[in-house]
Amino acid sequence: MEYVKTKIRDVIDFPQKGVIFRDLTTAFKDPKAIHILGWNLSQIYRDKGVTKVVGIESRGFICGSILAFELGAGFVPARKPGKLPSEVISTSYDKEYGKDTIEIHSDAITPDDVVVIHDDVLATGGTMAAVYELVRRFNPRKIYINAIVELSDLGGRAKLPAEAETTALITY
Ligand code: IMP
Repeated sequence: MEYVKTKIRDVIDFPQKGVIFRDLTTAFKDPKAIHILGWNLSQIYRDKGVTKVVGIESRGFICGSILAFELGAGFVPARKPGKLPSEVISTSYDKEYGKDTIEIHSDAITPDDVVVIHDDVLATGGTMAAVYELVRRFNPRKIYINAIVELSDLGGRAKLPAEAETTALITY
């Protein structure tokens, strides 16, 4: 993962002053880095009987899809309001840079599913906790949480339940 870390770009003062934004697009565009990411993610979950990967809009769609493919699981998008075309369940939450709402199709998950929720970055944990809460309403057999990058200073992990066995590939 050291190689991948060298491919993550730090953008100073984005989206506002004082923030160091960890830009993963520079890792995603690198063939070796995205291969390492896909391989490492699939190693974490390969023996866990995962049936659905929930990817959080929008950068969670990238490696979330790769992980679903590698595991032979389905992919479910968690999206911003008004983007999903059929009936949804939704929740609102506080974010690092304001308030937001997130939605999942109401037929996306069943009680038989074993779910991994995936995003690129775990920051304050508000987004991940909100999606966990949505997925929990479907009462699946198990919910795991994963992020590529965890910004540990922001304490997001503390907002997430221990039973989700949260994993991150890179910690700052
Ligand atoms: P949280 O809700 O504060 O944990 O923020 C996580 C969400 O904001 C994720 O969907 C990330 O994509 C995005 N985010 C927050 N900080 C960063 C960053 O430094 N780089 C990339 N995405 C970030």
